[in-house]
Amino acid sequence: MTRALLLIDIQPDFLPGGALAVGEGDRILKGVAELLNNPGFDVVVATQDWHPADHTSFASNHPGKTPFEVINLYGHSQTLWPDHCVQSTPGARLYPELNWDRVDLILRKGTDRAVDSYSAFRNNFNAEGDRPATGLTGYLQARGVTEVELAGLARDYCVAWSAEDAVSEGFTTDVLWDLTRSVDPSGDRELADHLADLGVTIIRR
Ligand SMILES: [Zn+2]
Repeated sequence: MTRALLLIDIQPDFLPGGALAVGEGDRILKGVAELLNNPGFDVVVATQDWHPADHTSFASNHPGKTPFEVINLYGHSQTLWPDHCVQSTPGARLYPELNWDRVDLILRKGTDRAVDSYSAFRNNFNAEGDRPATGLTGYLQARGVTEVELAGLARDYCVAWSAEDAVSEGFTTDVLWDLTRSVDPSGDRELADHLADLGVTIIRR
């Protein structure tokens, strides 16, 4: 069994004080630092939300709309966000207090202005009705990875979508639940049940 650690969007904009702060997001940092020192992972991947300033997920690019409104985009629901993780801004860095030396691959996502990208594996639906792959499945398979463990932010968006896609791509998939936090924690119980139904293992410490 070859194991990969996927660290999702651990960036200042998703941490307290950031542009799209996830409540208690900083509570995961100590545990993530320990994971980065854990020799038990064969491959470590970090994703980095990395948007152009005119990204379609930003409410500021939809006149009259405000953050957290939901619109229809290409036939699917799209939450509009505050501007966040704009390319080359401080908030878009990988959180600088962690030691990222161990990371084998930094995967930037959300770079196409016309489509959002929650999952590490596939963009959200585009105008053609497709979810184009990021290439992560092939990267992991080429290294013999069979199991992935996920931590990071936010639990109910980018971690959840990544876990759903990981299991559908055939990986044994574990979410390190305590090393994630949600934008909307009120849905956590339902989310855990949903992921478990898909075959994702929820690991609580
Ligand atoms: Zn984003």
